[in-house]
Formats: sequence, structure tokens, C-alpha cells
Amino acid sequence: SNGLHFRPTRAEIDTDALRHNATMARKHAGHCKLMGVIKANGYGHGAVEVAHAINGSVDAYGVAFIDEALKLRDAGFIQPIVLLEGCFSEAELPVCAHYNLQPVVHQQAQLDAILNARLVKPLAVWLKADTGMHRLGFAPEQIEAVSKQLENCPQVGSVTVMTHFANADRHQHPLNERQLDRFNEVCARTTPARTLSAANTAALLSSALDLGDKASQWCRTGIMLYGVDPTEQQEALPLLPAMRLLAPVMAVREVAAGEAVGYGSQWVATRPSRIATLAIGYADGYPRHAPNGTPVWLNGVEVPLAGTVSMDMITVDVTDLEHLEVGDEAELWGPNLAVAKVAEAIRTITYELLTRVSERVPRHYK
Ligand code: PLP
Repeated sequence: SNGLHFRPTRAEIDTDALRHNATMARKHAGHCKLMGVIKANGYGHGAVEVAHAINGSVDAYGVAFIDEALKLRDAGFIQPIVLLEGCFSEAELPVCAHYNLQPVVHQQAQLDAILNARLVKPLAVWLKADTGMHRLGFAPEQIEAVSKQLENCPQVGSVTVMTHFANADRHQHPLNERQLDRFNEVCARTTPARTLSAANTAALLSSALDLGDKASQWCRTGIMLYGVDPTEQQEALPLLPAMRLLAPVMAVREVAAGEAVGYGSQWVATRPSRIATLAIGYADGYPRHAPNGTPVWLNGVEVPLAGTVSMDMITVDVTDLEHLEVGDEAELWGPNLAVAKVAEAIRTITYELLTRVSERVPRHYK
């Protein structure tokens, strides 16, 4: 590609908003260290650009796997990078040691690989305890023994003990306390005393979940950097949405009552209607399962999605809109229409909407 984009559909990324949100995360983390979670291409915002924007506020970056980390190293970032999925093969270990990539160790096979590896430098590792999410991690009663093995291993430098909450976004969920209790038990039994990490964004922001100083010596924040408060708290934090997803009106037409719009004729006009066609579809990451009525912001108001999402286009009901021309731009989500509101209408989560904005949507940084 020559770098030119003629199709006006785009995601505007507000780097000042990223910076502001990172400052907020920093403030909430207090004296704890802060990991900026920028896996999945910075939750769709561009990992390298996000890493630049939040650089001054974070002590480390978090990505899912080694290839994501190496992109950051290639771009010149020298901060510690944690691999939240850990390693998949022994071949990754020397690369981790060389580039100071810090894998999460969550099962015996990984531990064995590390114990048997020949490394030029000791690895910093994150030892994961499964306190109740039951996805990754050693059982709490195994942690003590594993921690001892790591202690005696010359291939291993620092060890941070971590866990991950399954329901931190739901303040009253009984599993939160149970997970925290188990984590505190694990930590109490771990010798030597280890650096600890439990909090994602929701746990950090949750007033109901008292992690204490100890459990959150490292906070791992992702979604709040992008401007979303995932908790149920009434008083929303002053976070700024970092992505504005835009698509132009391509065409406008009148549709008679009783006529249907789009594939499968899933929307039928109940009155003489006006339909606008926008240049964004499921190939751009706008979910195909978005139902009729999903809000789209256009010329100052929210208009409802009308008809099935196509690969490159969607249709919206603009009958009640006074002013509209071909070329006007709709905001799918952004400062005028919270991605959380769209996610709720589509019955998904903000994380999925943001991370699935596809590669063919150019990111414009400001
Ligand atoms: N820690 C771990 C282990 C994760 O997998 C994630 C992301 O899913 C995070 C922290 C960041 O979570 P959030 O974006 O909710 O802050």
C-alpha cells in the first residue's frame, strides 16, 4: 500500500485521552506499580502508539504473547514487558531472557522448561495462582512448592505472585471475597515474601473490593486506559474515550411502509421511512449480530440501526433526522456515544468492540 486511504471510514485515536486516562490509573494505583495492558494491539488502538502515549505513567507493559512483545521491542521500548499468556514453547525462553520479557508461569510444563533451560540472563517471571477463575494458574496449595523451586533455580531472577479476578466488575459478587481470601492465604505462605499483583481495572476501581496495599503491589490496568470504567459504580470516573469510530453516509433513500431493508429483510418500515447507508460493516469489526435499534450517532442525535449488518455497510433509520446529506459522518462510538452503551445494545462488552476494529480501518492519531 502507498499509505493513502481514500475510504473515509476510520478510527480516530486521541492520544491526549490515552495520556489522561493513564494519569488517572497512575493516581488510583497510588504507590503501587502500574502495568499498562496493551495486548491485542492496544485493545485495538495501536500497541506502539498507546505505548508511546502512556509511557510516562506506567512501569511495565502487559501483552498476551511473545510476538506482541517483540513488536514493542522493535519499536524501541525498553520497559519490562509481561507475557500474560506465558510461553508456549521452550524456544521462547532464551528470547524472553534476552529481551527482558517476563512470562506468566501457570503450569508445571512451563516450570520444567524453565528449570531445564540454559539462559544467558535470569528470567523475571510472574507466578500465577488460580484463586477461583479456573482458567490459568497453579492451585493455591501448589504455590508454596513452586515458589521454592523457582527460588532455587539460577535461571530465575525475580518472581511476582499474581492472580486474576473473574468478577471484579460486579461489586457484590461473592467470588471476589473468596478469591481475595485465597490469594491472601497464598501470599502469606509464600517464602520468601514475593511482590504481588491481583488488580485489573475493575479491581483497582472497585470501592467494594479492598485489596489492601499488599495484594496490589502491581496493578494491571487495560480497559480504563482506553476510557472505559468497567465497574457498576454510580459515579463514573472522568475518563476520556480514546477511540472515535467514524463512517460516512454513502447513500440516502426513501422506503415505503411495508418495505424491508437489508439481508434477510430483518427490518420492515412501519411508516414511510428514510434510510441512510453507512460505510462500515462486519469486515470492519462492527458486529454482524448488532440488533435493530442499536444506536448510531449522526448529526447530533442517536439514530437506530435498521436491518442486518452487511460486510461493508450498515443501514440506519434517519426518518426523524432533520438534516442529512451524503458525506455526513456517523460516529459508531466515541465521545458522543459511549462504547459501553453500544456494547450493551449489542449484548457484548466494550473490550470486544474495541479489539475487533479490523485492520482495514485506518487509525488516525491526534
Ligand atoms: N490482567 C490480566 C491477566 C488480563 O488478562 C487482563 C486483561 O484481560 C488485564 C489484567 C487487564 O484487564 P482490564 O482491561 O479489565 O483492566
